[in-house]
Amino acid sequence: MHTLFEPRLVNDAFGDPGLYVDFRDEPRGLLFDLGDIAKLPPRKLMRLSHVFVTHTHMDHFSGFDHLLRVVLGRKTGVVLFGGPDFIAQVEHKLRAYTWNLVHRYEVGLAIDACEIGTNGRGQRARFSSRTRFAREPCASFELPGDVLHEETTFRVRGRFVDHDIACLAFAIEEKARLKVDKDRLVGLGLGTGAWLRELKHAVLTGAAGETPIDVRWHDRHGDHAMTRSVNELRPLILDVVPGRRIGYVTDLRYSEPNIQTLVQLLAGVDLLFIESVFLEEDAAHGARKNHLTARQAGRIAQRVGAKAVVPFHFSPRYEQRSADLIAEVRAAWSGS
Ligand SMILES: [Zn+2]
Ligand SMILES: [Zn+2]
Repeated sequence: MHTLFEPRLVNDAFGDPGLYVDFRDEPRGLLFDLGDIAKLPPRKLMRLSHVFVTHTHMDHFSGFDHLLRVVLGRKTGVVLFGGPDFIAQVEHKLRAYTWNLVHRYEVGLAIDACEIGTNGRGQRARFSSRTRFAREPCASFELPGDVLHEETTFRVRGRFVDHDIACLAFAIEEKARLKVDKDRLVGLGLGTGAWLRELKHAVLTGAAGETPIDVRWHDRHGDHAMTRSVNELRPLILDVVPGRRIGYVTDLRYSEPNIQTLVQLLAGVDLLFIESVFLEEDAAHGARKNHLTARQAGRIAQRVGAKAVVPFHFSPRYEQRSADLIAEVRAAWSGS
């Protein structure tokens, strides 16, 4: 089945956490966590539109410098999302360098930092190379539920889990996929054109039935143009296939409130990336470090009803025992 995204971990399970979500139909990517990203080639970093940071422990944020180094002078903008204090932390990163020349670069870079508060309010600030990355405050905003970012074809949701500190867990959701019935199209005497994309967009975004669509196409008889309402055209839409949903969950303690939060965010998710840092035999150590064991990760995957699970963020102490970690996750997930 054709899907919008191709998600892949940036590093192996012992490396810094990070998920690169590639778009299949356009040169674009999303990144979840910004630790060691040296394995990502510059062309993949150049394609990033949005980066979502769970929390700013070093293994999740130290790659900021690498990203900046690659895109500075080459890319016009990138949007970063993070939790409490995120804007100040981005600002401190930028303040650590000397910017006496950067305002003259031919390609200017704007970094938009979005900070999500635990109170459900967001703040946005811009740092532009044109003004030597001086902070330009923008308005604060109310988050529509847990939706952090939304476009026609997908949305990213986020909720806080407890990792001793507030840490964001993410859901990456492809919206419903629409197909057009070609026979009905011919039956209505219409031809295919860019207007079909407009119609799908209208249906996906829940536009009012009377919304007019400019129906234009070209065939061997020449150009055709007419206006039809969304309601008149809706029968052309077939096969509303539910989109694929992906979960990215890392750095949290095992607690009932955390599980409840993840159930609200990720129930029935198609693919769950979840930290599995310690073996169950080291559960007491895991609890002290505010991390999950592999068995706890598997139990969470089962509670949310994940259809597939990919464990990661393994502690280096198990260098020779990754199979044990994977087996423990799978056993708990499948309930055996
Ligand atoms: Zn971590
Ligand atoms: Zn952490």
